[in-house]
Amino acid sequence: MALPAHGISRDQVLAQLDDFKVADVKWRDGHAFTLAYSAGEEVLAVAEAAYAKYSTENALNTDAFPSLRRIQSDVVDIVAGWLEAGPEGAGFMTSGGTESLLMAVKAARERGRKEKGITQPNVVLPTSAHAAFEKGCYYFGLESRRVAVGADWKADVAAMEAAIDDNTVLVVGSAPQYPQGVIDPIAEIAAIAAARDINCHVDGCMGGVTLTYLERLGHEIPAWNFSVPGVTSISVDLHKYGYTAKGASVIVHRNKRLRGYQTYVTDNWLGGMYGSSGVLGTKGGGAMAAAWAVLHFLGDDGYLRLTSAARQACEELTAAVRGMPELAIRAEPEATLLAIGAADPERFDVFALADALWRRGWYVDRQGPPASLHCTVNAVHAGRIPAFVADLRASIDEVSSAGAAGAQGAYGTVD
Ligand SMILES: *Cc1c(COP(=O)(O)O)cnc(C)c1O
Repeated sequence: MALPAHGISRDQVLAQLDDFKVADVKWRDGHAFTLAYSAGEEVLAVAEAAYAKYSTENALNTDAFPSLRRIQSDVVDIVAGWLEAGPEGAGFMTSGGTESLLMAVKAARERGRKEKGITQPNVVLPTSAHAAFEKGCYYFGLESRRVAVGADWKADVAAMEAAIDDNTVLVVGSAPQYPQGVIDPIAEIAAIAAARDINCHVDGCMGGVTLTYLERLGHEIPAWNFSVPGVTSISVDLHKYGYTAKGASVIVHRNKRLRGYQTYVTDNWLGGMYGSSGVLGTKGGGAMAAAWAVLHFLGDDGYLRLTSAARQACEELTAAVRGMPELAIRAEPEATLLAIGAADPERFDVFALADALWRRGWYVDRQGPPASLHCTVNAVHAGRIPAFVADLRASIDEVSSAGAAGAQGAYGTVD
């Protein structure tokens, strides 16, 4: 489409954008089990208003925008508190989980190079660890050493240990891992890192908020944060279970020295000293302000309430799926993620089920191996599980009688 020769009106522009959305998943109504999260219209409105106030402000240089220095510092402090980082903890806001993980990889590479002279670094990580680690290894020139998970889908720590060598700069665990929603044995993974004095990143992008509050709600959660010796950094996405606008994640390092390996500074050009905390140069203030606003609007009791609601919805869905003979849950959800397979994959295609659900307006993730559906259950689903389960049942019946096969789909796309 070409740029219009003459501008059109504000109303026309905004109406067009609304029209574009007609075929999009209705996430505000709880029809998305991935990609978008909602704690309700009131919270969304707070995030949007705060975003609008800061959409053009730039955290690239907080000398000009001290408000954004303050906002970032408050948000990082709150997350560091959740993670039990203690007074030494130091972090940055990033644009999302991917940037947080890229920075964990980059910091580990830098530390290995500076402290040990490692020039051919590798990362040892379970097959369940997020694709963004793979991207980080590819971008920054590290070898990714994937280690098969155990039968319980959790990291196999003995096998990880065997994969480590003198060039390993980073080991990874997830709390929980995305594909099956289980928590890796973080204490054991961190211990092998501590014994070698290398980095251990815990990917709490999905679970950082949820596990913090599930524990407060009395759930038995294995230690996963900075209370575990040997953990050097943790990522938490606020644009997921923080229920704020897209573009907000936090990476916290155990101390400022370790955080120092994340940042980048140069004066090797004609434009003066250029320092940056992450991948971005210009760093939009909108997502940062929205995160600050939603954290303060919800407060501690708000996150307790939302975590409880999300967990309850997840348990309700898990129980319903367990009662469907065509389906099998991959693992007992340890947070709020549920992976669903076919009881008999020869006779039932879960991707065809995903197609049938999408025809009814529900969007679930498709993943594998093994072929599975994935539901990220959040507060928006409270009270909506019965409607989903009814459509799930109808979709299963439709697929069973048609013997349909579906398309594999993707977690992310390149178009
Ligand atoms: C979502 C997610 C990421 C990546 O985060 P983005 O915000 O999509 O870049 C990384 N790790 C886990 C466990 C995630 O769930």
